[in-house]
Amino acid sequence: MSHQEFKVIDFHIHIGLKEHWHHWVHEYQKSAGSDLYERYDELTDPERFADYLFSFGIEKAVILPEISPITTGVVSNEYVLEFCQGKEIYLPFCTVNPSTENNLDRKLKGYIKKGARGIKLYPSYNHFYPNDKRLYPIYELAQQHKIPVLVHTGSSIFRGSKIKYSNPIHLDDVAADFPDCKILMAHGGRGLWYKDAFFLSRLHPNLYLEISGLPPKNLLKYFPELEKNIDKIVYGSDWPGVKSVGINIQAIKKLPLAETSIEKILYKNAAGILDNAVLPV
Ligand SMILES: [Zn+2]
Repeated sequence: MSHQEFKVIDFHIHIGLKEHWHHWVHEYQKSAGSDLYERYDELTDPERFADYLFSFGIEKAVILPEISPITTGVVSNEYVLEFCQGKEIYLPFCTVNPSTENNLDRKLKGYIKKGARGIKLYPSYNHFYPNDKRLYPIYELAQQHKIPVLVHTGSSIFRGSKIKYSNPIHLDDVAADFPDCKILMAHGGRGLWYKDAFFLSRLHPNLYLEISGLPPKNLLKYFPELEKNIDKIVYGSDWPGVKSVGINIQAIKKLPLAETSIEKILYKNAAGILDNAVLPV
């Protein structure tokens, strides 16, 4: 197989309009060289954004909302579900924030009914531990509906975020208490906890290491035994926190890894996680 033929699932894409995010989020994304700002009209249009994703060989894209009023802003579940409506390429996720909302399980059921294919949680942005009992009904529902939960782990440079909530060790409880719920550690414990996140993903069959926002060239430095855990590594871009959605795909293809490993990182592992039967709500 030539490298050009690799299929790609991007497990971590943020969408949003300028007014959804705080100014420091824009400043950060601009400093990362994000093409969002040069191509704003195109890349905020659902139709044209899908073409943009296709141009990088992306077959499916996880699209994330966020309800993080203190740290980044609010891109509502409704906005994301509407954006993704009727397009096969998009896998809309939903989010809940136990610090600002009640009735999380009722809300989640509603989002699943409207097409949400997974859940994203932002512990350091919203100041809760992911093993907080208020979230247990959420994990219970995710497990029942066979939808994955993507949880931010590790550092974030955004104003107001508190890293102690992003320690991946708190997912040890969740992975053990919900053994049939697939959980991904976004950013692989970035900064302080690469080793811990890697260890945990080897320990728990249902816990995965998602590598968005990490420079591919450093991947083998952060995770020297990457290939020993190759079935648990999942690609995501974290765009618009990077130059373009596609830039890191090219870099991953160039890593000194077996082609089968690259295929697993870019596509197969994510496909296995997303291969779910959504139950009627
Ligand atoms: Zn992100």
